[in-house]
Amino acid sequence: MNVLITGGAGFIGSHLVDRRLAAGDRVTVIDDFNDFYSPARKRANIAPHLENPCFRLIEGDIRDETSVARAFEGQDLDAIVHLAARAGVRPSLSAPVLYEEVNVIGTLRLLEAAVRRGKPRFVLASSSSVYGCGRVPFSEEDPVGRPISPYAATKRGAELHVAATHHLEGLAAVCLRIFTVYGPRQRPEMAIARFLRGVEKGEPIPIYGDGSSSRDYTYVDDVIDGIEAALRAPLQFEIINLGGAHPISLSELVAAIEAATGRTAVVERKPDQPGDVPATYASVEKASRLLSFRPRVPLPEGLRRTVAWLRGHAA
Ligand code: NAD
Repeated sequence: MNVLITGGAGFIGSHLVDRRLAAGDRVTVIDDFNDFYSPARKRANIAPHLENPCFRLIEGDIRDETSVARAFEGQDLDAIVHLAARAGVRPSLSAPVLYEEVNVIGTLRLLEAAVRRGKPRFVLASSSSVYGCGRVPFSEEDPVGRPISPYAATKRGAELHVAATHHLEGLAAVCLRIFTVYGPRQRPEMAIARFLRGVEKGEPIPIYGDGSSSRDYTYVDDVIDGIEAALRAPLQFEIINLGGAHPISLSELVAAIEAATGRTAVVERKPDQPGDVPATYASVEKASRLLSFRPRVPLPEGLRRTVAWLRGHAA
């Protein structure tokens, strides 16, 4: 398969790049190495592949038509996995226009190019955040008209443009609503990455709210399995949840981190954060039916692997 992975130097993207190259694919990555977190970390994520003749890197911004055209140049793509985005709920509160430009306009640029260049299968990384404060478990049939952060609104906006392009142009597409992902190379501002760093160093870790908020944490290898299944499945247009389907509270997460590290956490209580949802929980019935998706890595095992990686990569 010949695949374009946008945001392929990031956390999830670089795991997908590893997998697709190992499977014998030709892989093009477009990534702008912005400083949302250390660009050096992103470069390290893909460094092992730079000499691989099946790997091509375009350093550029998906908002820029010329950069996107370069990513399509000289090849017939079979598929696009669109992961490039400004991620994270909290940082979106102070930069809503940037989030809109990258996550919505950037997606439109790619959709336009995809339609012009043979309509390769399109897989969008959407997010569980589109469900807002809805009832759990979240099902793809639930109403999603009440986003509670700019990030969530832009992810829903991107889904809607994918749907419209499918309707007008027949682009085969899957929007994956991904639930909080963790594992080696996790974005450093995400809770598990911050907690693990803090506990390893004996520093206080901030806990927002009373510890009862819950998240459906999903190990990165499981998410990659789901993305790969979406690349293979002969679907025309679907929105599908990808989650661990086993939510745990913040307090339980801290206990699991203590168990995985063998250290005691020093907890610093903070008020609830605006934009955060109280709970996420994926119904994965549709993913199981259409993608044969089954999350395989339970949290304690996923945390053990993440701690092992972190200890091997301590700065
Ligand atoms: P990440 O920040 O590690 O990866 C995103 C990559 O996209 C980065 O390498 C970044 O440099 C690149 N990028 C950002 N803006 C760009 C632009 N304008 N042009 C080109 N490249 C650009 O984030 P991640 O955690 O790997 O998330 C990947 C995708 O999955 C995102 O779309 C995110 O919204 C979605 N997602 C992530 C999670 C999660 O828990 N990590 C959950 C749900 C959805």
